[in-house]
Order: sequence, then C-alpha cells, then structure tokens
Amino acid sequence: MEQFDMLEHPHRRYNILTGEWVLVSPHRTKRPWQGKQEKVEEVQRPPHDPGNYLGPGNLRAGGERNPDYTNTYVFVNDFGALYPEVPKGSYEKGGLLKAVGEQGICKVVCFSPRFDLTLPEMNLEDIVKVVETWQEEYKALGRESFINYVQIFENKGEIMGCSNPHPHGQIWAQSTIPEEPAKEGVQMKQHFEQHGRSLLSDYVALELEEKERVVLENESFVALVPFWAVWPYETMVVSKRHFQDINMMTGKEKQDFAEILKQLTTKYDNLFEISFPYSSGIHQRPTDGEAHEEWHFHMHFYPPLLRSATVKKFMVGYEMMAEPQRDITPEFSADKLRSLSLEHYKSRRSRS
Ligand SMILES: [Zn+2]
Repeated sequence: MEQFDMLEHPHRRYNILTGEWVLVSPHRTKRPWQGKQEKVEEVQRPPHDPGNYLGPGNLRAGGERNPDYTNTYVFVNDFGALYPEVPKGSYEKGGLLKAVGEQGICKVVCFSPRFDLTLPEMNLEDIVKVVETWQEEYKALGRESFINYVQIFENKGEIMGCSNPHPHGQIWAQSTIPEEPAKEGVQMKQHFEQHGRSLLSDYVALELEEKERVVLENESFVALVPFWAVWPYETMVVSKRHFQDINMMTGKEKQDFAEILKQLTTKYDNLFEISFPYSSGIHQRPTDGEAHEEWHFHMHFYPPLLRSATVKKFMVGYEMMAEPQRDITPEFSADKLRSLSLEHYKSRRSRS
C-alpha cells in the first residue's frame, strides 16, 4: 500500500478555529470540466450615481437624505435585521421550543463617496480611513451596555447577494455572541489556557515556517489560505502580534493592515480579471466587558468563485447534509494567488 499523500488522496482537515472538519478530494481536480464557462462583460461604472441611495447627497429608501460626505459615511440601516428597542423576554415550551429576544444595531459603512471604486481600487490613504471608521464604530457600538459583540463585514458582488453596487460594508452589533465567533472563542480559550499562547500566534508561526499557504506578508500581518479552507480561494488575514481587537493596533499596524487588504483584494480581482465577489469579516473579541485575552484579531475572506468569473462553488448536497468539501487543495490556491500581480488588471490595461 502506498503512503498517504495529502496532495493526492482524499482526506479530512481539521479547522482549529471552529473544531470542525472539511473533506478534501485533490484527485478530483483531474476530472474534465463540462460546465458553463463564459467571459463576463464588465460594465464601466460612473464615479457617481444620483439614483443610488448610498451616494452622497442622495435620498435613502427610508426617506432620509445622505449628507454630501467626502470620506467614509456610516448610517443606521433603514431596514436593519436588528434594532435596539426589543422588549426583554423569551419563549419556551416543553424544553424543545426556545426563543430569546435579541437587541442590536445594524449600520451601513460607505467606503467612499465614489460609486466606482471597490477596496482594491481605492488609494491606501482612503483604505486607512475605512479601517479608522471600523475602529470608531467598534468602540462606539461596543460601549453600549446592551451590545456584547460587533460584527464588521462586507458582501461584495451580486453573486453574494449584495443588492447595491456602491462599495460598502456593514456592521451588525448585538446583545449575544453569535455562533461563528462563539465557536472560535471556545477553541482560542482552550489553546490559551493549555499553552499560555494565542492559538493564531502558534498557527501563524507554523505557516510562516512552511510558507506553502502564505499569500502575502508584511511587517504586521500575514494573508494565507488556511489549512482547513472551505471555499476555493478562501483566505485569512492574521496579525503577527497577538492583540484582541481593532483598537489595539499601533499606527504602523493600521497602515500595514490597510496595505495587505489592498494587495489581497487586488490579487483577487486579478485572478479572473473581474471585480472579485466575496464575503469578508473581522473576528475580534466580544465587547461584553471581559478581557478575552485568548482572542486574536483576524479577518476572513470567503469568495465563492471556483474556475472562472461565472463558475461558482456550490455548497449543496454533501456539504449541506454532511460537511464542507473541496477539490483543489489550499496549497494550490495559495500558489495561484501568490503568482498574481499586485498591479490591478484595470490599471495594467489602461497602461497598454
Ligand atoms: Zn474567525
């Protein structure tokens, strides 16, 4: 019997952050592809669209008018999934039916007044302003006594269900710690108590030694394809220094964070030469007043595309019923992302 080879044989990989497993089937990448694969025509967007409710000076769906903002702009979502004035209470029947009231605040963060500039196309200084806005919001929302967790995230592209093309992210803050960060908190705490070190510090040290899954690195941050990645080109941006939340960054770390975000999203756009869709989000310590020493600041990128601008990975069948599965290995994806230019394909095109 031949020896087990991770790049050849079906296997399961362990996600240290969630305690869950993912099935990897590298041998399947050899099968012929017969699905659809078409070139996408990209529409050139104007810098401003007076009809878009996220734009400066424009009328929002809720009836309010946006100010003539020139940097980032934050407002409470007119149709948020959560709102603060929920009566305290719960419902229970027979120990089987449970419901608990949840308070929260949902905000929208416009990255800039420009309708046509996504993160990779923005100047570094303007991305720094987005990071600073995240810092301010995390602090202000976290200070509210009924807010114990702040989720900063972005859904980019129609394929991710983003209904508005004006580049923006969202912040949902709420009274309980939701499932994903709660799972990670348990894993990080266990490691921290056992070893006295942050789980992600140990993981990053190992990845920097192996280099195989590292996509980008600067003085303060690493962008890598996690060993247990589920999405074909999933990545994670992790701080090299162990700190718990976005407001603990030094000035240098803030710059480096903005830089690695620009570089990573540029590589994403260059992969299929389209504005690359993804869901991204920051995981950091809850704002429940506890120190949460074990928490280690990081950001996830979950992009759905698999083979081209139109061929998406579906989470269906086995993934829904059993567990996530992938064909191309995280090592292949990291290698592919590493090989891509840091110059955005649009600026390359406009030069030639
Ligand atoms: Zn996480």
